[in-house]
Amino acid sequence: MKNIMFLVVELFSHTCRNGKAEFIRDLLLVSLLLSVFTMLLIDGCAPPAQPWRVFRLKIETLWDWNALGMVLAYTSLQGALYYLPFGQVAEGKIGHNGKRLQYNMNGLYAFAVTLLLLGGLWYRGVFQGSMVGDRTLQLVCASTVVALLLSSGLHLHSLWLPPGQLVNYGKKSNFLQEFALGRVADPRVGRIDMKQFVMVRIGFMGWAVVDLSFLLTEIEKHGAPSIPLLLVVTFHLLYILELLTDEASVLPTKEYTQDGLGFLMMLGEFMWIPYFSSLPVYYLLKRHPPLSVHWAFSLCVLYGLGFLFYHLSNVQKDGFRKNPEDPAYAHLVTIPTNTGKSLLVSGWFGWIRHPNYLGDIMMTLAWCLPCGFCSLLPYLPVMHCANLLRRRAAEIESECHAKYGPAWEEYCRRVPYRLFPYVY
Ligand code: NDP
Repeated sequence: MKNIMFLVVELFSHTCRNGKAEFIRDLLLVSLLLSVFTMLLIDGCAPPAQPWRVFRLKIETLWDWNALGMVLAYTSLQGALYYLPFGQVAEGKIGHNGKRLQYNMNGLYAFAVTLLLLGGLWYRGVFQGSMVGDRTLQLVCASTVVALLLSSGLHLHSLWLPPGQLVNYGKKSNFLQEFALGRVADPRVGRIDMKQFVMVRIGFMGWAVVDLSFLLTEIEKHGAPSIPLLLVVTFHLLYILELLTDEASVLPTKEYTQDGLGFLMMLGEFMWIPYFSSLPVYYLLKRHPPLSVHWAFSLCVLYGLGFLFYHLSNVQKDGFRKNPEDPAYAHLVTIPTNTGKSLLVSGWFGWIRHPNYLGDIMMTLAWCLPCGFCSLLPYLPVMHCANLLRRRAAEIESECHAKYGPAWEEYCRRVPYRLFPYVY
Protein backbone atom coordinates (compact mmCIF):
# COMPACT_ATOMS: atom_id res chain seq x y z
CA MET A 1 0.00 0.00 0.00
CA LYS A 2 2.75 2.39 1.06
CA ASN A 3 4.69 1.64 -2.15
CA ILE A 4 1.66 2.36 -4.30
CA MET A 5 1.22 5.70 -2.56
CA PHE A 6 4.82 6.69 -3.22
CA LEU A 7 4.60 5.54 -6.82
CA VAL A 8 1.56 7.70 -7.46
CA VAL A 9 3.11 10.78 -5.79
CA GLU A 10 6.38 10.21 -7.64
CA LEU A 11 4.75 9.70 -11.04
CA PHE A 12 2.44 12.66 -10.51
CA SER A 13 5.16 15.10 -9.52
CA HIS A 14 7.44 13.89 -12.30
CA THR A 15 4.94 14.03 -15.11
CA CYS A 16 3.32 17.15 -13.73
CA ARG A 17 6.52 19.15 -13.99
CA ASN A 18 8.15 17.60 -17.04
CA GLY A 19 5.16 17.33 -19.34
CA LYS A 20 6.80 14.67 -21.52
CA ALA A 21 4.48 13.30 -24.15
CA GLU A 22 5.26 9.64 -23.44
CA PHE A 23 3.85 10.01 -19.94
CA ILE A 24 0.60 11.62 -20.95
CA ARG A 25 -1.62 8.55 -21.03
CA ASP A 26 -0.25 7.33 -17.69
CA LEU A 27 -0.63 10.85 -16.44
CA LEU A 28 -4.35 11.01 -17.10
CA LEU A 29 -4.82 7.65 -15.45
CA VAL A 30 -2.70 8.74 -12.51
CA SER A 31 -4.64 12.01 -12.27
CA LEU A 32 -7.89 10.15 -11.82
CA LEU A 33 -6.22 7.66 -9.51
CA LEU A 34 -4.88 10.66 -7.62
CA SER A 35 -8.37 11.51 -6.41
CA VAL A 36 -8.81 7.93 -5.17
CA PHE A 37 -5.36 8.12 -3.62
CA THR A 38 -6.21 11.41 -1.85
CA MET A 39 -9.39 9.83 -0.49
CA LEU A 40 -7.35 6.88 0.81
CA LEU A 41 -4.98 9.31 2.55
CA ILE A 42 -7.89 11.16 4.13
CA ASP A 43 -9.43 7.88 5.26
CA GLY A 44 -6.03 6.77 6.57
CA CYS A 45 -5.98 9.73 8.97
CA ALA A 46 -8.76 8.17 11.05
CA PRO A 47 -7.62 6.33 14.21
CA PRO A 48 -6.36 2.82 13.29
CA ALA A 49 -9.36 1.11 14.94
CA GLN A 50 -11.82 2.79 12.56
CA PRO A 51 -12.73 0.92 9.34
CA TRP A 52 -11.74 2.35 5.93
CA ARG A 53 -14.77 4.14 4.47
CA VAL A 54 -13.45 4.16 0.89
CA PHE A 55 -13.39 0.35 0.76
CA ARG A 56 -17.05 0.13 1.75
CA LEU A 57 -17.72 1.29 -1.82
CA LYS A 58 -21.05 2.82 -0.85
CA ILE A 59 -22.09 5.65 -3.12
CA GLU A 60 -23.11 7.90 -0.19
CA THR A 61 -19.58 7.80 1.31
CA LEU A 62 -18.15 9.10 -1.96
CA TRP A 63 -20.87 11.21 -3.53
CA ASP A 64 -23.06 13.89 -2.04
CA TRP A 65 -24.88 16.57 -4.04
CA ASN A 66 -24.35 19.03 -1.16
CA ALA A 67 -20.60 18.65 -1.60
CA LEU A 68 -20.94 19.49 -5.28
CA GLY A 69 -23.10 22.48 -4.33
CA MET A 70 -20.43 23.68 -1.88
CA VAL A 71 -17.63 23.46 -4.47
CA LEU A 72 -19.76 25.27 -7.04
CA ALA A 73 -20.83 27.94 -4.51
CA TYR A 74 -17.21 28.56 -3.48
CA THR A 75 -16.08 28.76 -7.12
CA SER A 76 -18.89 31.20 -8.01
CA LEU A 77 -18.12 33.33 -4.94
CA GLN A 78 -14.48 33.62 -5.98
CA GLY A 79 -15.55 34.41 -9.55
CA ALA A 80 -17.67 37.30 -8.22
CA LEU A 81 -14.92 38.50 -5.84
CA TYR A 82 -12.44 38.64 -8.73
CA TYR A 83 -14.38 41.74 -9.85
CA LEU A 84 -13.92 43.57 -6.51
CA PRO A 85 -12.83 47.10 -7.43
CA PHE A 86 -9.80 47.03 -5.09
CA GLY A 87 -6.14 46.24 -5.56
CA GLN A 88 -3.80 46.97 -8.41
CA VAL A 89 -3.86 45.72 -11.97
CA ALA A 90 -0.52 44.03 -12.78
CA GLU A 91 0.93 43.37 -16.21
CA GLY A 92 2.30 39.95 -17.07
CA LYS A 93 3.60 38.27 -20.20
CA ILE A 94 2.84 39.52 -23.71
CA GLY A 95 -0.43 37.98 -24.93
CA HIS A 96 -1.39 36.75 -28.40
CA ASN A 97 -2.45 40.29 -29.45
CA GLY A 98 1.01 41.72 -28.71
CA LYS A 99 -0.17 43.54 -25.57
CA ARG A 100 0.80 42.65 -22.01
CA LEU A 101 -1.82 40.58 -20.19
CA GLN A 102 -3.47 42.31 -17.25
CA TYR A 103 -4.30 40.63 -13.96
CA ASN A 104 -6.50 41.81 -11.05
CA MET A 105 -4.35 41.72 -7.93
CA ASN A 106 -7.20 41.82 -5.42
CA GLY A 107 -6.62 38.35 -3.93
CA LEU A 108 -6.01 39.73 -0.45
CA TYR A 109 -9.35 41.59 -0.50
CA ALA A 110 -11.14 38.53 -1.89
CA PHE A 111 -9.57 36.48 0.91
CA ALA A 112 -10.66 38.99 3.58
CA VAL A 113 -14.25 38.95 2.29
CA THR A 114 -14.20 35.13 2.14
CA LEU A 115 -13.00 34.89 5.75
CA LEU A 116 -15.56 37.44 6.96
CA LEU A 117 -18.31 35.54 5.17
CA LEU A 118 -17.11 32.20 6.54
CA GLY A 119 -16.91 33.59 10.10
CA GLY A 120 -20.29 35.35 9.79
CA LEU A 121 -22.08 32.27 8.44
CA TRP A 122 -20.51 30.12 11.15
CA TYR A 123 -21.47 32.57 13.88
CA ARG A 124 -25.08 32.64 12.62
CA GLY A 125 -25.13 28.82 12.49
CA VAL A 126 -25.69 28.71 8.71
CA PHE A 127 -22.29 27.11 8.13
CA GLN A 128 -20.61 24.51 10.30
CA GLY A 129 -17.00 23.36 10.01
CA SER A 130 -18.22 19.75 10.14
CA MET A 131 -20.00 20.35 6.82
CA VAL A 132 -16.46 20.15 5.39
CA GLY A 133 -14.77 18.06 8.12
CA ASP A 134 -17.31 15.22 7.91
CA ARG A 135 -17.73 15.41 4.15
CA THR A 136 -14.11 15.49 2.98
CA LEU A 137 -14.26 12.36 0.79
CA GLN A 138 -17.34 13.65 -1.00
CA LEU A 139 -15.71 17.07 -1.45
CA VAL A 140 -12.67 15.44 -3.08
CA CYS A 141 -15.01 13.61 -5.48
CA ALA A 142 -17.01 16.76 -6.23
CA SER A 143 -13.82 18.82 -6.80
CA THR A 144 -12.57 16.15 -9.24
CA VAL A 145 -15.84 16.31 -11.17
CA VAL A 146 -15.76 20.13 -11.32
CA ALA A 147 -12.11 20.04 -12.50
CA LEU A 148 -13.04 17.51 -15.19
CA LEU A 149 -16.05 19.55 -16.35
CA LEU A 150 -14.17 22.86 -16.42
CA SER A 151 -11.20 21.43 -18.32
CA SER A 152 -13.57 19.72 -20.80
CA GLY A 153 -15.33 23.07 -21.31
CA LEU A 154 -12.01 24.84 -21.87
CA HIS A 155 -10.90 22.17 -24.31
CA LEU A 156 -14.14 22.40 -26.31
CA HIS A 157 -13.93 26.20 -26.34
CA SER A 158 -10.34 26.01 -27.61
CA LEU A 159 -11.48 24.18 -30.78
CA TRP A 160 -12.86 27.50 -32.05
CA LEU A 161 -9.76 29.55 -31.25
CA PRO A 162 -7.10 30.60 -33.78
CA PRO A 163 -3.68 28.81 -33.52
CA GLY A 164 -2.07 32.01 -32.15
CA GLN A 165 -3.94 31.54 -28.87
CA LEU A 166 -2.98 27.89 -28.44
CA VAL A 167 0.03 26.20 -26.83
CA ASN A 168 2.33 24.73 -29.46
CA TYR A 169 3.19 21.11 -28.59
CA GLY A 170 4.81 20.45 -31.98
CA LYS A 171 3.80 17.97 -34.67
CA LYS A 172 3.54 15.01 -32.28
CA SER A 173 0.82 16.55 -30.14
CA ASN A 174 -2.27 14.47 -29.48
CA PHE A 175 -5.63 14.82 -27.80
CA LEU A 176 -4.56 13.32 -24.47
CA GLN A 177 -1.54 15.58 -24.20
CA GLU A 178 -3.55 18.68 -25.05
CA PHE A 179 -6.37 17.74 -22.67
CA ALA A 180 -4.00 16.99 -19.79
CA LEU A 181 -1.62 19.93 -20.21
CA GLY A 182 -4.03 22.44 -21.75
CA ARG A 183 -4.64 23.71 -25.25
CA VAL A 184 -5.16 27.39 -24.48
CA ALA A 185 -2.15 29.41 -23.34
CA ASP A 186 -3.94 32.12 -21.36
CA PRO A 187 -7.65 31.29 -21.05
CA ARG A 188 -9.95 34.08 -19.91
CA VAL A 189 -13.62 34.18 -18.95
CA GLY A 190 -14.70 37.82 -19.05
CA ARG A 191 -11.98 39.68 -17.14
CA ILE A 192 -11.04 36.58 -15.15
CA ASP A 193 -7.66 35.09 -15.97
CA MET A 194 -8.41 31.40 -15.48
CA LYS A 195 -4.86 30.41 -14.52
CA GLN A 196 -4.62 33.02 -11.79
CA PHE A 197 -8.16 32.19 -10.74
CA VAL A 198 -7.60 28.46 -10.27
CA MET A 199 -4.08 28.77 -8.85
CA VAL A 200 -4.59 31.56 -6.34
CA ARG A 201 -8.33 31.80 -5.66
CA ILE A 202 -9.25 28.10 -5.87
CA GLY A 203 -6.00 26.32 -4.93
CA PHE A 204 -4.37 28.53 -2.32
CA MET A 205 -7.45 30.21 -0.88
CA GLY A 206 -9.40 26.94 -1.03
CA TRP A 207 -6.64 25.33 1.04
CA ALA A 208 -7.06 28.07 3.69
CA VAL A 209 -10.85 27.60 3.72
CA VAL A 210 -10.50 23.81 4.11
CA ASP A 211 -7.98 24.32 6.94
CA LEU A 212 -10.24 26.80 8.73
CA SER A 213 -13.22 24.48 8.34
CA PHE A 214 -11.21 21.72 10.05
CA LEU A 215 -10.33 24.19 12.81
CA LEU A 216 -14.03 25.06 13.23
CA THR A 217 -14.90 21.34 13.27
CA GLU A 218 -12.47 20.89 16.17
CA ILE A 219 -14.06 23.83 18.03
CA GLU A 220 -17.56 22.41 17.44
CA LYS A 221 -16.51 18.98 18.75
CA HIS A 222 -14.19 19.91 21.62
CA GLY A 223 -15.00 23.53 22.47
CA ALA A 224 -11.51 24.78 21.52
CA PRO A 225 -8.82 23.85 19.00
CA SER A 226 -5.84 21.79 20.14
CA ILE A 227 -2.49 23.62 20.22
CA PRO A 228 -0.89 21.51 17.43
CA LEU A 229 -3.89 22.06 15.14
CA LEU A 230 -3.93 25.79 15.83
CA LEU A 231 -0.17 25.95 15.19
CA VAL A 232 -0.35 24.17 11.83
CA VAL A 233 -3.32 26.24 10.63
CA THR A 234 -1.44 29.42 11.63
CA PHE A 235 1.66 28.26 9.70
CA HIS A 236 -0.49 27.56 6.64
CA LEU A 237 -2.31 30.89 6.85
CA LEU A 238 0.95 32.86 7.10
CA TYR A 239 2.28 31.03 4.03
CA ILE A 240 -0.91 31.74 2.06
CA LEU A 241 -1.00 35.38 3.20
CA GLU A 242 2.62 35.81 2.10
CA LEU A 243 1.58 34.86 -1.41
CA LEU A 244 -1.55 37.01 -1.39
CA THR A 245 0.28 40.14 -0.22
CA ASP A 246 2.46 39.92 -3.33
CA GLU A 247 0.21 38.09 -5.76
CA ALA A 248 2.10 39.54 -8.75
CA SER A 249 5.21 37.55 -7.77
CA VAL A 250 3.70 34.44 -9.36
CA LEU A 251 3.43 36.07 -12.81
CA PRO A 252 7.05 35.30 -13.91
CA THR A 253 6.73 31.57 -12.99
CA LYS A 254 6.71 29.04 -15.81
CA GLU A 255 3.09 28.08 -15.06
CA TYR A 256 2.05 31.58 -16.18
CA THR A 257 4.59 32.21 -18.92
CA GLN A 258 4.91 28.80 -20.62
CA ASP A 259 2.27 26.25 -19.60
CA GLY A 260 -1.32 25.85 -20.76
CA LEU A 261 -4.28 25.28 -18.46
CA GLY A 262 -5.47 21.69 -18.77
CA PHE A 263 -7.03 18.95 -16.69
CA LEU A 264 -3.84 18.37 -14.70
CA MET A 265 -3.52 21.92 -13.43
CA MET A 266 -7.27 22.12 -12.88
CA LEU A 267 -7.29 18.92 -10.80
CA GLY A 268 -4.18 20.05 -8.95
CA GLU A 269 -5.83 23.31 -7.89
CA PHE A 270 -9.37 22.10 -7.20
CA MET A 271 -8.49 18.85 -5.46
CA TRP A 272 -4.79 18.26 -4.73
CA ILE A 273 -3.72 21.61 -3.23
CA PRO A 274 -6.71 22.10 -0.86
CA TYR A 275 -7.02 18.51 0.37
CA PHE A 276 -3.48 17.11 0.15
CA SER A 277 -1.86 20.23 1.62
CA SER A 278 -4.33 20.26 4.52
CA LEU A 279 -3.65 16.59 5.32
CA PRO A 280 -1.62 17.33 8.51
CA VAL A 281 -4.53 19.43 9.83
CA TYR A 282 -7.02 16.67 9.04
CA TYR A 283 -4.72 14.17 10.76
CA LEU A 284 -4.60 16.36 13.88
CA LEU A 285 -8.39 16.65 13.80
CA LYS A 286 -8.79 12.88 13.78
CA ARG A 287 -5.97 11.89 16.15
CA HIS A 288 -4.70 14.08 18.94
CA PRO A 289 -0.95 13.59 19.31
CA PRO A 290 0.57 15.49 22.25
CA LEU A 291 2.90 18.45 21.64
CA SER A 292 5.27 19.69 24.34
CA VAL A 293 5.97 23.40 24.76
CA HIS A 294 9.66 22.88 23.88
CA TRP A 295 8.80 20.99 20.72
CA ALA A 296 6.23 23.64 19.72
CA PHE A 297 8.83 26.36 20.23
CA SER A 298 11.42 24.48 18.14
CA LEU A 299 8.87 24.09 15.34
CA CYS A 300 8.14 27.83 15.44
CA VAL A 301 11.88 28.50 15.07
CA LEU A 302 12.14 26.04 12.15
CA TYR A 303 9.11 27.59 10.47
CA GLY A 304 10.30 31.16 11.17
CA LEU A 305 13.73 30.49 9.64
CA GLY A 306 12.15 28.76 6.64
CA PHE A 307 9.76 31.70 6.20
CA LEU A 308 12.66 34.19 6.29
CA PHE A 309 14.74 32.23 3.75
CA TYR A 310 11.71 31.89 1.47
CA HIS A 311 10.40 35.44 1.75
CA LEU A 312 13.66 37.42 1.77
CA SER A 313 15.28 35.46 -1.07
CA ASN A 314 12.14 35.79 -3.21
CA VAL A 315 11.99 39.54 -2.51
CA GLN A 316 15.67 39.93 -3.46
CA LYS A 317 15.37 37.87 -6.66
CA ASP A 318 12.08 39.48 -7.78
CA GLY A 319 13.35 43.01 -7.03
CA PHE A 320 16.63 42.41 -8.85
CA ARG A 321 14.82 40.89 -11.84
CA LYS A 322 12.52 43.95 -12.05
CA ASN A 323 15.20 46.60 -11.60
CA PRO A 324 18.84 45.46 -11.40
CA GLU A 325 19.91 49.13 -11.23
CA ASP A 326 18.08 49.67 -7.92
CA PRO A 327 20.66 51.04 -5.38
CA ALA A 328 19.38 48.43 -2.88
CA TYR A 329 21.28 45.80 -4.92
CA ALA A 330 24.40 47.87 -5.57
CA HIS A 331 26.39 45.93 -2.92
CA LEU A 332 25.64 42.53 -4.49
CA VAL A 333 28.19 40.77 -6.69
CA THR A 334 26.85 39.76 -10.11
CA ILE A 335 27.97 37.86 -13.20
CA PRO A 336 27.07 39.46 -16.55
CA THR A 337 25.45 37.16 -19.14
CA ASN A 338 25.29 37.39 -22.93
CA THR A 339 21.54 38.23 -22.76
CA GLY A 340 22.22 41.57 -21.04
CA LYS A 341 20.84 40.28 -17.70
CA SER A 342 23.12 39.59 -14.72
CA LEU A 343 23.12 36.71 -12.26
CA LEU A 344 23.36 37.33 -8.51
CA VAL A 345 26.37 35.57 -7.05
CA SER A 346 26.21 37.02 -3.53
CA GLY A 347 23.36 37.65 -1.11
CA TRP A 348 20.76 34.88 -0.83
CA PHE A 349 21.57 33.42 -4.25
CA GLY A 350 25.28 33.40 -3.40
CA TRP A 351 24.61 31.10 -0.44
CA ILE A 352 22.86 28.29 -2.33
CA ARG A 353 21.25 28.30 -5.78
CA HIS A 354 17.64 27.89 -4.54
CA PRO A 355 17.33 29.47 -1.06
CA ASN A 356 13.58 30.02 -1.63
CA TYR A 357 13.04 26.28 -2.23
CA LEU A 358 14.99 25.43 0.94
CA GLY A 359 12.74 27.82 2.92
CA ASP A 360 9.67 26.21 1.36
CA ILE A 361 10.83 22.71 2.40
CA MET A 362 11.64 23.88 5.96
CA MET A 363 8.18 25.44 6.38
CA THR A 364 6.47 22.32 5.05
CA LEU A 365 8.50 20.13 7.43
CA ALA A 366 7.55 22.42 10.34
CA TRP A 367 3.84 21.96 9.67
CA CYS A 368 4.12 18.16 9.35
CA LEU A 369 6.13 17.59 12.54
CA PRO A 370 3.32 18.47 15.05
CA CYS A 371 1.61 15.26 13.88
CA GLY A 372 4.09 13.14 15.87
CA PHE A 373 5.74 9.95 14.72
CA CYS A 374 3.00 7.30 14.79
CA SER A 375 2.30 7.49 11.07
CA LEU A 376 4.14 8.39 7.89
CA LEU A 377 0.95 9.71 6.35
CA PRO A 378 1.08 13.38 7.53
CA TYR A 379 4.68 13.56 6.25
CA LEU A 380 3.67 12.97 2.63
CA PRO A 381 3.29 16.75 1.99
CA VAL A 382 6.93 17.43 2.95
CA MET A 383 8.22 14.42 0.97
CA HIS A 384 6.21 15.55 -2.02
CA CYS A 385 7.37 19.17 -1.64
CA ALA A 386 11.06 18.20 -1.36
CA ASN A 387 10.85 15.88 -4.34
CA LEU A 388 8.93 18.41 -6.44
CA LEU A 389 11.28 21.28 -5.68
CA ARG A 390 14.37 19.08 -6.25
CA ARG A 391 13.04 18.27 -9.73
CA ARG A 392 11.96 21.86 -10.35
CA ALA A 393 15.42 23.14 -9.38
CA ALA A 394 16.99 20.77 -11.93
CA GLU A 395 14.49 21.84 -14.59
CA ILE A 396 15.00 25.59 -13.97
CA GLU A 397 18.76 25.12 -13.97
CA SER A 398 18.76 23.36 -17.33
CA GLU A 399 16.65 26.24 -18.73
CA CYS A 400 19.07 28.81 -17.22
CA HIS A 401 22.03 26.86 -18.62
CA ALA A 402 20.47 26.99 -22.09
CA LYS A 403 19.78 30.75 -21.67
CA TYR A 404 23.00 31.92 -20.06
CA GLY A 405 25.57 29.24 -21.11
CA PRO A 406 29.07 29.95 -19.69
CA ALA A 407 27.75 32.57 -17.22
CA TRP A 408 25.50 29.94 -15.65
CA GLU A 409 28.41 27.46 -15.51
CA GLU A 410 30.48 30.12 -13.75
CA TYR A 411 27.59 30.73 -11.31
CA CYS A 412 27.35 27.00 -10.52
CA ARG A 413 31.12 26.88 -9.98
CA ARG A 414 30.99 29.80 -7.55
CA VAL A 415 27.81 28.64 -5.80
CA PRO A 416 28.23 24.85 -5.81
CA TYR A 417 25.23 23.81 -3.66
CA ARG A 418 21.72 23.63 -5.03
CA LEU A 419 19.41 23.19 -2.04
CA PHE A 420 21.25 22.28 1.18
CA PRO A 421 24.57 24.02 1.99
CA TYR A 422 27.49 21.50 1.99
CA VAL A 423 25.11 18.60 1.27
CA TYR A 424 23.34 18.95 -2.10
P1 NDP B 1 12.47 30.76 -8.75
O1 NDP B 1 11.68 31.71 -7.94
O2 NDP B 1 13.66 30.17 -8.11
O3 NDP B 1 12.90 31.51 -10.09
C1 NDP B 1 13.83 30.96 -11.01
C2 NDP B 1 14.29 32.09 -11.89
O4 NDP B 1 14.98 33.05 -11.09
C3 NDP B 1 15.25 31.65 -12.95
O5 NDP B 1 14.59 31.15 -14.06
C4 NDP B 1 15.96 32.98 -13.24
O6 NDP B 1 15.05 33.77 -14.01
C5 NDP B 1 16.03 33.62 -11.85
N1 NDP B 1 17.28 33.32 -11.19
C6 NDP B 1 17.74 32.14 -10.71
N2 NDP B 1 18.94 32.25 -10.14
C7 NDP B 1 19.28 33.56 -10.25
C8 NDP B 1 20.42 34.32 -9.85
N3 NDP B 1 21.45 33.76 -9.22
N4 NDP B 1 20.42 35.64 -10.12
C9 NDP B 1 19.37 36.23 -10.75
N5 NDP B 1 18.28 35.56 -11.16
C10 NDP B 1 18.22 34.25 -10.90
O7 NDP B 1 11.54 29.58 -9.24
P2 NDP B 1 10.00 29.40 -9.42
O8 NDP B 1 9.48 30.37 -10.38
O9 NDP B 1 9.90 27.96 -9.72
O10 NDP B 1 9.34 29.59 -7.96
C11 NDP B 1 8.69 30.76 -7.48
C12 NDP B 1 8.29 30.52 -6.01
O11 NDP B 1 7.24 29.55 -5.93
C13 NDP B 1 9.44 29.96 -5.17
O12 NDP B 1 9.50 30.65 -3.97
C14 NDP B 1 9.09 28.52 -4.89
O13 NDP B 1 9.52 28.11 -3.61
C15 NDP B 1 7.58 28.54 -5.01
N6 NDP B 1 7.08 27.23 -5.50
C16 NDP B 1 6.61 26.34 -4.56
C17 NDP B 1 6.15 25.09 -4.95
C18 NDP B 1 5.65 24.12 -3.92
O14 NDP B 1 5.13 23.08 -4.28
N7 NDP B 1 5.77 24.41 -2.64
C19 NDP B 1 6.12 24.69 -6.37
C20 NDP B 1 6.65 25.70 -7.25
C21 NDP B 1 7.10 26.92 -6.82
P3 NDP B 1 15.37 34.64 -15.32
O15 NDP B 1 16.70 34.26 -15.80
O16 NDP B 1 14.29 34.32 -16.27
O17 NDP B 1 15.27 36.04 -14.82
